[in-house]
Amino acid sequence: MTKDYYETLGISKSASKEDIKKAYKQLAKKYHPDINKDAGAQEKFKEINEAASVLGDDEKRKQYDQFGDADSYRQAFSGARGGFGGFDFSSFGGSFDFDDIFDTFFSGGRGRRRSAARDGADLRYDMEITLEEAAFGTEKEIVIPRNVLCEHCHGTGAESDSDIVTCPDCNGAGAVRKVQRTPFGMFQSTTTCRNCSGSGKSIRKRCHECGGSGSVHKESIMQVKIPAGSATGTNLRIVGGGEAGQREGSPGDLYIVLHVKKHKHFERDSDDLYIKVPLAFTTAALGGEITVPTLKEDATLKVPSGTQSNTIFRMRGKGISHLHGSGAGDQLVEVVVYVPDKLSKKAKKMLEDFEKEVGKKGLLGKLFS
Ligand SMILES: [Zn+2]
Ligand SMILES: [Zn+2]
Repeated sequence: MTKDYYETLGISKSASKEDIKKAYKQLAKKYHPDINKDAGAQEKFKEINEAASVLGDDEKRKQYDQFGDADSYRQAFSGARGGFGGFDFSSFGGSFDFDDIFDTFFSGGRGRRRSAARDGADLRYDMEITLEEAAFGTEKEIVIPRNVLCEHCHGTGAESDSDIVTCPDCNGAGAVRKVQRTPFGMFQSTTTCRNCSGSGKSIRKRCHECGGSGSVHKESIMQVKIPAGSATGTNLRIVGGGEAGQREGSPGDLYIVLHVKKHKHFERDSDDLYIKVPLAFTTAALGGEITVPTLKEDATLKVPSGTQSNTIFRMRGKGISHLHGSGAGDQLVEVVVYVPDKLSKKAKKMLEDFEKEVGKKGLLGKLFS
């Protein structure tokens, strides 16, 4: 009986794991011996389970694809592997969860990751910076209290290498077999060894520095580069800057969240800067050049004659550099015309002459015409 596992499950050769799982669940429910009493249902149920146990496991699926049919594959592998997915398909039964079984197919392959390893947690660090630092970028030193890899045991948790021994409960396999008896027959499954959490190793003497966890709490000093153009909410990720992993798990990441302090003179709108500057009423009337501060240095702004108060001038490229890509925002300058509150005798005389020249009514007439 030459069979194709893909055909058995009614899926294509390019089916995803989700597809396989879905097809398996549907068919397994349809042909389960508890539900389906038709002749041949049990045989069909066996075939479905066999197909799913192979196609649900990446490694086995790859090998199967090389053979292309179930008989050749079974001949090559079943003996050496001790059956399919650790199940006894000849006497299946009882009530069980199809999801559970399928998940066992998935994790049943060889070469899977040792499950005792635990990845370290990610950390968050909130940092305040000035507007100047955000605009031009800077480098900061920070102190982070976190769990780091234990230097004495290098994360193994053992006092010395000779204290790492093969787990006596599972003989190093990391998993133990469990046989369940049901009214329909034997149900055999494989579970992770509790003694070693799947690592296959156990520790005879724990490391005196870390007590066996493989990591110690410490304040680490880190250099952080703040890129030019950063803003409040900018998130810097430092790979491996989080808590150390346990038992050879990988470390977490550090996320630095930036907060830009309010500036005394400048307001920020995206990458544009905004500032208000005073403008002498004479310069407003006659025009001229004024000195305007920017974040970096003072700059010159040309003001045309007849400039009104609250006019906004745009200084191109004098804003904040764009964080992603080149270029920079603009600086917007709002001029506020001011009138001196004290006048010398001479200045007063000159202004009176000016008033006579322009005429009180002339000016008002112009404004309200
Ligand atoms: Zn064990
Ligand atoms: Zn240690």
